[in-house]
Amino acid sequence: AGFTVAIVGRPNVGKSTLFNRLIEQRKAIVDDVSGVTRDRQYGVAEWNGKTFNVIDTGGFVPHSDDVFEKEIRKQVVIAMQEANLILFLTDVTTGITDLDASMADILRRSDKPVITAVNKVDNPQRALDANEFYGMGLDPLFFLSSISGSGTGELLDEVTKYI
Ligand code: GDP
Ligand code: MG
Repeated sequence: AGFTVAIVGRPNVGKSTLFNRLIEQRKAIVDDVSGVTRDRQYGVAEWNGKTFNVIDTGGFVPHSDDVFEKEIRKQVVIAMQEANLILFLTDVTTGITDLDASMADILRRSDKPVITAVNKVDNPQRALDANEFYGMGLDPLFFLSSISGSGTGELLDEVTKYI
């Protein structure tokens, strides 16, 4: 029971890094290798006296590009069913990819609230680059650096408005 937030996004955007930061425990496996098999991780986060569950939707087994995309889309659909709110994570260093765009298409039809965040916004130049993501047409949009924690407070303020 309780309010549940699912973090979805392509491999390597930083979902597990953000998850670890939100739950303030080092639980999920952060991996530089894209597409490594990982299980879903469940944790509990607290912000401003509000507690909620967080799911890191990491696990999938890519066999080919086709299956890969299908699995990620499936992950989004499952997250939309399981969670009360979807946190859609993207990566400023790659810009908007085709897979981001197709995930955004699914999420735009979600009846659950979706909060989009651009991760790896580690410096002012990347904040300028991240403006590209306004073009996806998903609102609200937050800029984060999950490694440094910058921007995560604003994101959590927004998430906890729903609790
Ligand atoms: P996931 O596949 O979406 O779970 O991504 P991970 O959390 O495993 O991170 C993938 C890579 O991105 C790792 O090398 C992380 O250290 C790196 N990473 C995650 N967040 C940030 C960030 O805010 N800035 C930078 N520069 N790298 C990050
Ligand atoms: Mg991960």
